[in-house]
Amino acid sequence: MRNFELNFVRYINAGFPILYVDTFENSKAKKIIHDICRQNGRGVIEWSLSDACDYSVDPPLTIPKTGLAATLKLLLDDGNLDNKILILEDAHFELDKPENISALKFVAQKIIGGEFNLNICIISPLVPLPKELENFTTIMELDTLTADEIKEIIIDFSERQYIDVPEKDLLDKLVTRLKGLSQTEIDNILSLAVAEDGMLTYFDLPLVLEQKQQMVRKSGILEMIHVKESMDDIGGLENLKAWLLRKAEIFKQIKKAQDFGVDIPKGVLIAGMPGCGKSLTAKAAAKAFDVPLLRLDMGRLMGKYVGESEGNMRRAIKLTEASSPCVLWIDELEKAFAGIGGGGSEVTTRLFGSFLTWMQEKDSLAFVLATANKIDALPPELLRKGRFDETFYVDLPNDRERRKILEIHVKKRRKADLEKIDLDKLVAETKGYCGADLEGVVREGIESAFVAKKDALTTDDILSVIKNTHSLSEIMKDAIDDMKKTYEDLKLKAAS
Ligand code: ADP
Repeated sequence: MRNFELNFVRYINAGFPILYVDTFENSKAKKIIHDICRQNGRGVIEWSLSDACDYSVDPPLTIPKTGLAATLKLLLDDGNLDNKILILEDAHFELDKPENISALKFVAQKIIGGEFNLNICIISPLVPLPKELENFTTIMELDTLTADEIKEIIIDFSERQYIDVPEKDLLDKLVTRLKGLSQTEIDNILSLAVAEDGMLTYFDLPLVLEQKQQMVRKSGILEMIHVKESMDDIGGLENLKAWLLRKAEIFKQIKKAQDFGVDIPKGVLIAGMPGCGKSLTAKAAAKAFDVPLLRLDMGRLMGKYVGESEGNMRRAIKLTEASSPCVLWIDELEKAFAGIGGGGSEVTTRLFGSFLTWMQEKDSLAFVLATANKIDALPPELLRKGRFDETFYVDLPNDRERRKILEIHVKKRRKADLEKIDLDKLVAETKGYCGADLEGVVREGIESAFVAKKDALTTDDILSVIKNTHSLSEIMKDAIDDMKKTYEDLKLKAAS
């Protein structure tokens, strides 16, 4: 038996009043529940907005179509709820109405009171669980499809469509690409693939990828970032770059590496000063790994209903796994976990829990690259070994690094003028500048030269901008000193 079945049986035997199955796959969930009930001698009653039926009698009895609260009242009045599972579909549309919440709570209390042996099973893709029902409810998920099951779906699909079953190599590739998707999603993609030329071929592999990207976009939680930047665009941060390039090597030949006994790279936490190239590194890493970059927006993850944020987190994790191999960039990680341990909300704590478990158990090719400006806002569990492979600290660039960063940005915009620019002079004048400050002075210098109708950029153009600029470390002196001290106390690995 798979996890979902095992847990479901365990929960119904233990008399859990409400089980909330978070899925889009209603038919699949219903079929599993009907099978479990048959094996366990339980009757099933189903309710949805379009119809309701009692399957515990033979032949099944249609229940008059009414709202959720009215149906619950009808069933209670009939006194016919013992040894049953009541499946509710579409309940998410109904859970904002007080009479429905109250009716569910009423029944849940009776279940707990031992009046009848019933479990209510809500099947829904959204988890807008009202606070009143939280204590009565256990959230569950269907198992993701195994490689064998996906293979079976493809073979089944081919037979139903009277097309050739793909040969082994293509079949294996399709299976790998379709991992993490549900049966309905797989069926839809396969139908689309066949619609074009009437068969499944290697040309359909990019289509699978495209469809996954669509799903990511539609989710609204993850963003697919188009990457142009490479490691060559980063000035300094040599240790970090070397570390990432090494992981990229492993990632690109993962099968061979694993056979040799190398662990799958899990992820890295890059903390440090703002404007010093952390985001830039995330992008360059995806390029070096040669995989898509997904950005997780923690702000969008937080929903207004109990359970919604966790639901979103699970969805984000699922989408990430489905999109793997990929780099998952979690920007400003500290914002998501602000308040943990310091009286933060329960939701944040639970979100954090599911994230940690995933990081701990993850064996997919989804490399997590988390960036944070303030590491002291992060819970210590996150910094413990086993979550991230390494934690780096990015400091303000030193002389050598500033030289390189200035060079990169001049070269990008005015390559021909580079050799006439006195980089050493600029380096001497930019102590305490972060990478973004340096880019800023180069950009403005070029703009001034253009407006002054010069035909080339000179060192003086940039120097006069520097004279009128307040660097990050001037503006944030105290905050930066504090940060430095925290990083030193934590003994994080220096990125440079
Ligand atoms: P952070 O994520 O650390 O706040 P960013 O990576 O967003 O900083 O930096 C902002 C911009 O500043 C980058 O897009 C890049 O143009 C420039 N920059 C920052 N650090 C560097 C660096 N080390 N090398 C080259 N450019 C840099």
